[in-house]
Amino acid sequence: MKCPNCSGTLYFDIDKQKLVCEHCSAEFNVSEYSGNNDAQEGVFEGEKLYICKNCGAELISMNDEAVTYCSYCGSEAVLQSEISGMRYPKKILPFRINKKQCKDIYMKEMKGKWYVPKEFKDPEFIEKFRPFYIPYWMYQVQFRKEPFSLKGSRSYYSRGYDFYEEYDVTAAIRYQGMYGIPYDASRNFDDGIAENIAPFQRKLLVNFAPGYLAGMYADKPNVDADLYEEEVLERATDAAIADIDKDFRDITLHWPKKKDQQEFLETHYTGVDAVFLPVWFLTWRKDDRVAYAVVNGQTGKIHIDLPADMRLFMFMTVLGAAVLFALLTMFVTVTSRFVIWFSVLLAYMTGRRYLSELREIRDRENHVFDKGYLLSDEDDLVMSEKKRAKFRKKGTSSGSGILRIIGGILGFLFIFALFGGLYDELVTEDGALAMTFIILIPEIILFLKTVNTARYLRNKSGIFTALLTLGAVVYSFTIAAAQPVQDWWYYLGSLISLAATSVMCTDIIRRYNETSTRPLPSFYSRKGGNDHA
Ligand SMILES: [Zn+2]
Ligand SMILES: [Zn+2]
Repeated sequence: MKCPNCSGTLYFDIDKQKLVCEHCSAEFNVSEYSGNNDAQEGVFEGEKLYICKNCGAELISMNDEAVTYCSYCGSEAVLQSEISGMRYPKKILPFRINKKQCKDIYMKEMKGKWYVPKEFKDPEFIEKFRPFYIPYWMYQVQFRKEPFSLKGSRSYYSRGYDFYEEYDVTAAIRYQGMYGIPYDASRNFDDGIAENIAPFQRKLLVNFAPGYLAGMYADKPNVDADLYEEEVLERATDAAIADIDKDFRDITLHWPKKKDQQEFLETHYTGVDAVFLPVWFLTWRKDDRVAYAVVNGQTGKIHIDLPADMRLFMFMTVLGAAVLFALLTMFVTVTSRFVIWFSVLLAYMTGRRYLSELREIRDRENHVFDKGYLLSDEDDLVMSEKKRAKFRKKGTSSGSGILRIIGGILGFLFIFALFGGLYDELVTEDGALAMTFIILIPEIILFLKTVNTARYLRNKSGIFTALLTLGAVVYSFTIAAAQPVQDWWYYLGSLISLAATSVMCTDIIRRYNETSTRPLPSFYSRKGGNDHA
């Protein structure tokens, strides 16, 4: 966009919420300025479109500088082209967080993250944050207009008697045409990240004008609006029912069965609109993995993919554990019976951490939380959509915790110190059998769950690791039952357990780096788009 006074470049100034000329500093209201004058009203025509040769992502840019790399895959092979006939979004939420604030939020978040690759704190790298608009679909939903009648009931207890009362009630839906939940219109943008940086404040949406994009980038919508229809109708119906239920408080309303509710309320669409929501976007790439840092351009909420510097991490953990272990053994004497029980417990607890780590990878590899991915080449996915829907219902797994591994190790050394000296006095030989049995049963369940999870992973090494852990626990149980005299039977069991534990730990860290980065995206073979929105 050019300045009418001096034909310098105009950009959208976030602090002023105005268009400002780079050259003469003149200011203009965004609404006064209509982008491409020859264009048909309300349509992008002739604006720059960048297509990544590597991953197929498409970026709209109203920036005069050429786009030199792709935000999604970090590749520098970008083709320039022109947009033609893409409709404007209906609304836009202009940026509120400027680049300096964005970088401050990022740096604050990086404090204490000693284990990340050092590039993450390099000012030159952080300078690459890009202002980006992500397209979303907003659905307008209507319900039946006339009031309708329902049966209701109330049961209560008073003065020693149970009461049950029935009512005929009349209800009506107050909110018509409400905007449904926004859905990601971009397959490029990961739904998981979107959830982490949500919410955006709907009331700050303004009517779209091309001026808001001056100096910014936008992602081209490439997911069909009807992809989310079913879910929107379902959610809108649930919300309407919850609203009415709230009005009747202690009266229980007898709604039709779940599957008939939409029909009963006549839930239907009246329209769907694209809206643009602002994010700051930063991409890190190493070999064939990428990691993103994304900041909500309105609220400043941040998501960062944080890979660990493996060697640094291993070194610190091993060093810390060795020092503590050496210190503790100076004060406590332990018996072989305690050592075997303790290492089995350690293996079991690590196994639990291992399972939640595998689950997270399973969900990510199969894009369980990424509905927009439905459109893609389903063949890449090991899991069927039915399964994915099932896992999606279960919710996100607990989140990976590299710090939790360290915390866990320290916690265990504490137990070691506390019980090591007492174990032999507290626990008889028969008690030792019971102590191991307490671990054996949950371990069998854990084993089955782990194998079941590993089925959905591309890399199935998890099954071997789970077997090793189960073997260690079963062996220790046998030893506790047989009570051999020689110590080495016990130490052998501890060794197997410790081997299983360290195999799991290395695997967790290796996989941690896989979960904290992403495979290079590919947006080719896309279907759908904004053309009929
Ligand atoms: Zn000017
Ligand atoms: Zn790319």
